[in-house]
Amino acid sequence: ANAPETRRFDTEVHQLLKLMINALYSNREIFLRELISNASDACDKLRFEALTNESLKGLDQDLAVDVRFDAEAGTLTVCDRGIGMSREEVIDNLGTIARSGTKQFLESLSGDKQKDAALIGQFGVGFYSAFIVASEVSVETRRADEPAAKAVRWTSSGEGEYQLEPIEREAQGTTITLTLRDEHKDLLSEWQLKRIIRHYSNHIAFPIRLSEAGKDEAKDEAPETVNDSKALWARAKSELSDEDYQEFYTSLTGDEEKPLSWAHHHVEGSQRYSLLLYLPSQAPFDMLINRDEREGVKLYIQRVFIMDAAEQVVPRYLRFMRGVIDSADLPLNISREILQDDPLLKKIRATVIKRSLDLIERLAEEGGEAWEKFHTAFGSVLKEGVIEDFEQRERIASLLRFASSKSDDEGVGLDAYIDNMAEGQDTIWYLTADSLKVAKNSPHLEAFRKRGIEVLLLTDRIDEWLVAHLHEYKGKQLKSAASGKLDLDTDEAEPDESAKTLAGRIKQVLGEQVGNVTAGSRLTDSPGCIVSDDNAMSLQMQKMLRQAGQ
Ligand code: ADP
Ligand code: MG
Repeated sequence: ANAPETRRFDTEVHQLLKLMINALYSNREIFLRELISNASDACDKLRFEALTNESLKGLDQDLAVDVRFDAEAGTLTVCDRGIGMSREEVIDNLGTIARSGTKQFLESLSGDKQKDAALIGQFGVGFYSAFIVASEVSVETRRADEPAAKAVRWTSSGEGEYQLEPIEREAQGTTITLTLRDEHKDLLSEWQLKRIIRHYSNHIAFPIRLSEAGKDEAKDEAPETVNDSKALWARAKSELSDEDYQEFYTSLTGDEEKPLSWAHHHVEGSQRYSLLLYLPSQAPFDMLINRDEREGVKLYIQRVFIMDAAEQVVPRYLRFMRGVIDSADLPLNISREILQDDPLLKKIRATVIKRSLDLIERLAEEGGEAWEKFHTAFGSVLKEGVIEDFEQRERIASLLRFASSKSDDEGVGLDAYIDNMAEGQDTIWYLTADSLKVAKNSPHLEAFRKRGIEVLLLTDRIDEWLVAHLHEYKGKQLKSAASGKLDLDTDEAEPDESAKTLAGRIKQVLGEQVGNVTAGSRLTDSPGCIVSDDNAMSLQMQKMLRQAGQ
């Protein structure tokens, strides 16, 4: 069983490789960020497993990432002493596309290079990005809890197959060696690699050491650490510049766009924790689809990465937030189950909510382009908060913006609406519809236009649920402009007899198909419209349920 074995990649991997090499050719440097980020993850995992796994306790944890280059041989090596991989893990991780998100990613690739490059930039292409620059990649790895004889070598030229063979390996962890294509050999210099590492990976929490084959050994010098591995969130705010925060954001998320804003707090007292939260300026491409995707806020305990924060820490409606929470007072061997009821975590969650809403409120007050970006990217996610978070309902509602019968852009908030209410008006009127165009042409608006009353036009899929949960805002009722009784004025003219007779005739003809036909004074131009019974489901809601197959 010691002979090398050849296996084929999943067809999806093959597809991904081809697309990626094309789309990312001009952005080739990101491969190093990806390999270093994997090495750093592997160190995190080892440190975490060693907390609970007896067999790993005595292990020499020289947790660092070594980057070595050999210009003569044309190779670049990224080496870690982290958790490593077993044979099965190698096959799963480096031969298939395991993560479900990756499939969606592939489906959303358009073939348009520029668009795809932006997508890939957001996505974190991972291990396979090595093939952007390498003609040959070799991975030697041993899982930390397996014996030296159980190590594996994986090699591939990225063309459809890979080879696997058993090897001996003293050190736990992984060494990845890239043989660069000729046109990428310019990367093999100290200043190039230093520049790339500092640009993309400066804030990786482990030292990244750079060395040149033959050089440092000859001089008998320890390789130089090129990044700034001190946990940024643990530092004093006064030590940090805007650039530090922005750089850290990029190394944390891979998002090259600057964040809209951030908040950094050290909470002292009986329970201590640090909180660094960012508001991104763009949504990851799959945020709306994946309500359960949690990669936003990372939970650390005393600088040890524990996991991506779950619902227990960051509510779903804030899933666009990015950042780090680090607590000194949570038990290190914490599990997701314990997390459920931990009182400190509940406090942290409340703080995350408060600080996040503070950030968003400040952005709203400042207005301008940043606010515009925010509510275009995340406005509909935030709406979920009105539905899910009873305590914060009004605060979140005040941050929502809508189109209205009096304004063309989607910029009307509930407070602004109230300020602009017509005299004697005490209801917030809205109309739900499939699109803005349909809403604007709706006969339901006639009565309101005539009286100069503004109507909010709600066209987001989630809006119907939103108004089902938000009956009132600051003491004002929210009502649908399509409901049966409007009560717009007290002195509403009584419809004349002929109109009443006509209504009776129509009801006779339509019979059971309609609830009722009445003459009224709500329309000025259109002869008739459909209204819903005050107690019945709105038309829009009925339509949604029908679409959902109910
Ligand atoms: P991601 O990091 O987003 O999971 P990657 O393509 O970068 O995706 O890596 C795929 C998987 O391969 C990782 O999740 C990890 O399990 C494994 N892996 C990659 N590099 C290493 C490494 N240096 N040490 C241990 N496991 C690794
Ligand atoms: Mg990765």
